[in-house]
Amino acid sequence: MSAQVIDGKAYAEGLRQRVAVAVGQLKATHKLTPGLAVVLVGEDPASQVYVRNKHKQTIEAGMESFEHRLPASTPEAELLALVDKLNQDPSVHGILVQLPLPAQIDANKVINSINPDKDVDGFHVVNAGRLATGQDSLVPCTPKGCVMLAKDKLGDLTGLEAVVIGRSNIVGKPVAQLLIAESCTVTIAHSKTKNLADVVRRADLVIAAVGRPEMVKGSWIKPGACVIDVGINRVEVDGKGKLVGDCDYASCAQVAGSITPVPGGVGPMTIACLLRNTLHAACALNGIAMPKL
Ligand code: NDP
Repeated sequence: MSAQVIDGKAYAEGLRQRVAVAVGQLKATHKLTPGLAVVLVGEDPASQVYVRNKHKQTIEAGMESFEHRLPASTPEAELLALVDKLNQDPSVHGILVQLPLPAQIDANKVINSINPDKDVDGFHVVNAGRLATGQDSLVPCTPKGCVMLAKDKLGDLTGLEAVVIGRSNIVGKPVAQLLIAESCTVTIAHSKTKNLADVVRRADLVIAAVGRPEMVKGSWIKPGACVIDVGINRVEVDGKGKLVGDCDYASCAQVAGSITPVPGGVGPMTIACLLRNTLHAACALNGIAMPKL
């Protein structure tokens, strides 16, 4: 068997186009332009690439992009003051503080200082609570992207056995919440899980968010299962840098029914969902119904 490849790049492109159309309608009908503020503290090279891509795609979607770059030595109080200013700014509907933050800054404190209704990363404790209790919330982007891809491939997820590998606040926990909301039977595995391969073998839907290159092997996968690989790991092959996922693509693709590649699977969904969240926030803050996308 050879798995169908889930083309996250194409799906994300389509979603970004639908967001851009909705933004155009919002401008025409309500004279409202969604605005996204991205704050980058320090010079982490990966973060710089993300922030640059976010800026470019925000502009392409017809939104306003506000970039704030602060030196790595920025004191916590200064960052909190900037977040407060953005909370008050009516032209800013979404605020994203790029993680990781330098050691002198308490990331949780900063995230929880963002107005939850502008928290387009969905990491604020209020949004985590809303998601866990089934209330309308801004949902973390990568988890939302994973579930969109799974639903696009499988249709209704009701009753499926889903195994999420990873329990981070950024991916594992919120993706598990979203799958519960889709009526999956959800298992969350982590570094202390016993017999991980046997646990994964139960799954109709595997979400791997581990951060360990090619850890999940084809022999762990139930034949025909859908595999969503969140991992982005840079490895050296023949002296050259290469991106690989948390799943061993070659062996998993022989057993799975469908699988996301790395790159080109989950990765592109994150910014597309960020733009969707910014549109959602702009509508909600102005009492406008979120358009169907
Ligand atoms: P974290 O390091 O925060 O969490 C990793 C999780 O994996 C932890 O819960 C950990 O368990 C678990 N884990 C680690 N080793 C093992 C193991 N041997 N067996 C089982 N579980 C294990 O990572 P993130 O959730 O932030 O990210 C996960 C991956 O997703 C990374 O590769 C990251 O680059 C990628 N990512 C991709 C994004 C995108 O596509 N845009 C966005 C965000 C992340 P424990 O809790 O017990 O330590």
